[in-house]
Amino acid sequence: MKYHIVTYGCQMNLHESEKIAGILREKGYTEETDIDDADIIVFNTCCIRENAENHAFGNIGALKRHKREKKDLIIAVGGCMAQEKGKAELIREKFPFVDILFGTHNLNELGELIDRKRAQKKRVFSLREEREETEDGITPVRTGYPGAWVNIMYGCNNFCSYCIVPYVRGRERSRSADDIVREVGELAREGYKEITLLGQNVNSYRGTDGTSFPALLDRCASVEGDFRLRFMTSHPKDFSAELVSVVKKHKKICNCIHLPVQSGSNRILSLMNRRYTREKYLEEIALLRREIPDCAVTTDIIVGFPTETEEEFQETLSLVREAGFSSAFMFIYSPRTGTKAAAMDGQIPEEIAKDRLSRLIEAVNEQTRSISAGYVGKACEILCEGYDEKKGLYLGRDEYGRMGYFESEENPIGAYVTLRIERANGISLYGTIA
Ligand code: SF4
Repeated sequence: MKYHIVTYGCQMNLHESEKIAGILREKGYTEETDIDDADIIVFNTCCIRENAENHAFGNIGALKRHKREKKDLIIAVGGCMAQEKGKAELIREKFPFVDILFGTHNLNELGELIDRKRAQKKRVFSLREEREETEDGITPVRTGYPGAWVNIMYGCNNFCSYCIVPYVRGRERSRSADDIVREVGELAREGYKEITLLGQNVNSYRGTDGTSFPALLDRCASVEGDFRLRFMTSHPKDFSAELVSVVKKHKKICNCIHLPVQSGSNRILSLMNRRYTREKYLEEIALLRREIPDCAVTTDIIVGFPTETEEEFQETLSLVREAGFSSAFMFIYSPRTGTKAAAMDGQIPEEIAKDRLSRLIEAVNEQTRSISAGYVGKACEILCEGYDEKKGLYLGRDEYGRMGYFESEENPIGAYVTLRIERANGISLYGTIA
């Protein structure tokens, strides 16, 4: 019996797919890379943007004929989209060949749902409204060697007005600090070289014993072993000097912080319910640069938020230049039913939003190119994480998140490699082993 998992969305979802794989292995399934040969196909969905949903629906729909030909095939749909209000009914009605539906709060029940489906020969749709537990007892099948993800918390309390996450992932629940530190220790002993602590808003982590996020990070970075530590995502409203000093204290913690700004306009930030101002954000960047001058900052930006004017978009462009981001994830605002912003007047026409996005991408790319150009002729240590078949080159990132490509006779995946950078192309660096 073989499984195939299709994952959409963020690192949280990628890690949850590792847990889904863990459950399926427990049930005796093995992984199958070809979707056509699988006996169970699991879609781990995302609903952060409309595109992600449409993509998932398209791919699920494409299996209709396949299911007709392969009667015993089990198709399961889980993740954020499954948990979204109204989507279970829609899937039940429009996709009668979907056998199992599970949400973000009952991923750990997937094994039982499969048993029920097999025993009853009926569709099994199961959603839970909330989940108190923070430990799911699942051993993930890790797929990111030399990198590994560790959930430190689940859910979000922030209710940014454009975001559906609090509705589909529930309120914040933090894991115990001892359990997290234990997991980091195990990963280090198993030889993982880059451990990323994950949460929707890691800065609001609060362990059962009151441990704050900087204290947790300090403990994780004190674990013995030869590994790098990253964390995401930080929220500027909770960013603190204490956190900066922990990053500065430990060599293991990468000098690269992902700090989503979303907009450079105070009016738009307020409409987004982000609870910080442009000035506060820039002060945080200044603090980081003062304390850790080489720290790279990456961000997320949304353009075309309802009522955003050209002047306000220009404020975003000026913030991009002032903050000196080394890279950014940039998106056109996507209305999500049920969020406050979706009901706001002043939705921005698509062509205006697209134009703003392309100007923003150009502004960020200009900075990215100039930072990359600064690498040329210098040495750079990367952690080799894979092989790019298309390029025929090994690849890996330095601590600042820059991707380096190189040739190697031996397989260096999982090793730190020092490259002499010969050329740069956008965010990518090309070099030879020094
Ligand atoms: S902090 Fe805001 S954007 Fe991030 S998950 Fe929570 S509500 Fe969404």
